[in-house]
Amino acid sequence: MTNAEIAQTLEAYAALLDLAGAGHYSVRAYRRAAELIRETRAPVDELVRAGRVRELRGIGSGIERRLAELVETGRIAELEELEREVEPQLVALGRLVGLGPQRMVALGRELGVRTADELRAAAAAGRLREAKGIGPGTERKIRAGLAREPSRRRRGLTLNRARALAGAIALELGADIAGEVRRWRDVVYELALVTTADDAFERLERSPTVVAIVERAPGRAVGVTVEGIPVELVVAEPDAYGTALVEATGSPEYVASLGVLPRAATEEELYARLGIPWCPPELRESELLRSPPPLVEIDDIRGDLHCHTTWSDGRATVEEMASAARELGYAYVAICDHTPNVRVVPGLDAEALRRQGEEIAAANERLAPFRVLRGTECDIRADGTLDLPDDVLAELDWVQLSLHAGQREERDRLTRKVTEAMRHPAVRCLSHPTGRIINHRPPNALDLERVIEVALEEGVALETNGLPDRLDLRDEEVRLAVEAGVAVVCSTDAHSVRGLGNMRLSVATARRGWATAANVLNTRGLDEVLGLRRR
Ligand SMILES: [Zn+2]
Ligand SMILES: [Zn+2]
Repeated sequence: MTNAEIAQTLEAYAALLDLAGAGHYSVRAYRRAAELIRETRAPVDELVRAGRVRELRGIGSGIERRLAELVETGRIAELEELEREVEPQLVALGRLVGLGPQRMVALGRELGVRTADELRAAAAAGRLREAKGIGPGTERKIRAGLAREPSRRRRGLTLNRARALAGAIALELGADIAGEVRRWRDVVYELALVTTADDAFERLERSPTVVAIVERAPGRAVGVTVEGIPVELVVAEPDAYGTALVEATGSPEYVASLGVLPRAATEEELYARLGIPWCPPELRESELLRSPPPLVEIDDIRGDLHCHTTWSDGRATVEEMASAARELGYAYVAICDHTPNVRVVPGLDAEALRRQGEEIAAANERLAPFRVLRGTECDIRADGTLDLPDDVLAELDWVQLSLHAGQREERDRLTRKVTEAMRHPAVRCLSHPTGRIINHRPPNALDLERVIEVALEEGVALETNGLPDRLDLRDEEVRLAVEAGVAVVCSTDAHSVRGLGNMRLSVATARRGWATAANVLNTRGLDEVLGLRRR
């Protein structure tokens, strides 16, 4: 059993636990274990057999028992039981049409409906309203959901979840990822895959991840995952694969702007036939771009300027984070732990920050010529002052500002507070400027145009935070900064060694904002990053 297969089963199990109303923490533990196993290099089935699987961080005795059962018998009995009990197919359909799991399962039982086709037939026959508690509004919602009309109330997946899910399904089906995931959208509502494999539709029917089929047409089928995420699968002739890939990658507006698409085996061939340069998927959002800019690449990144350690709420030490950054091929990393005002997690005061400085100096001796920068993620206090004394701020290599409390403040006060703080001479960057948490908290009321003006005046950079539920600045906001000539910093805000891997999410977001390497501060060497101090 491969690690990918084990991870897939654990994820399916987590999804079912979630449906069955298990606690948030156990669901999350299984999801994390699945992620961890997918990224582990050693064969996990061997570790399980050797009784060593708990050496992997985050695998407790409960998960170990399930893994042992899975490796020994090839299945998890409780997973099959749960599948019968919670009817994932109905739950998935419910999520697709905007009904909660219990309501959808009750509706399905009442109408004797189990599949999308049956639900559609019931809707067409006007039978939905016979069911208890289904009024004309709900009926409309169900019809719209089945027709996959976009609904603002549907929740999307964060990009990291969407990438993992799309990757797993692509592996099951032998297909390539297209759609919103290929365009690296910050929130993903639908997955799209393209393949030339003849047996792809049968594989889709058998997929443990895609639990219901919603639509079938020649060369195309749409399924839905247990999360209620539609999955479009296109099967193309080999000599039209490039055309199918462009179409399935979208966006629909972009594809329409290309006009009639010629038949082509590859994307490159298609663009050549159209007589225009190939366009990176990140830029295929709206109108046709005649000459896309040379976007920043992940390999252009020379260092990470925002990460945490065990000194605040990180899980790895200074040296572990620095060594991992060096292994990524970086030339530098900035340790930016929190300051006391953040409260919910430990923050470093002046004294602690100086002691951390000694640890950083020692790490620098061991890791030279790699450089570990003394940084901070300095809170802006309620009164607008910075959360560290000036003399300490002046000692640091890299000071970035963050607003953690007071995100709900009204626009003028908030903007004044943040821009005044940005004028402090030690400040180099503003972190996660809008404070949004995808699916949880809307952006704050900050006047971003004003922030960009001040950033330009003061030579302060703006961050594109790579945490998957932040991605802040987001694409369009990066574009505003880039157009104004403000430097962007692509950072991970890593709280663990693994977290450093979120750089690709940050870079993709910057690319969606048209950033070239020249627009991104941490594509430059350390001398330039440090030398850009103002006045
Ligand atoms: Zn923060
Ligand atoms: Zn942070």
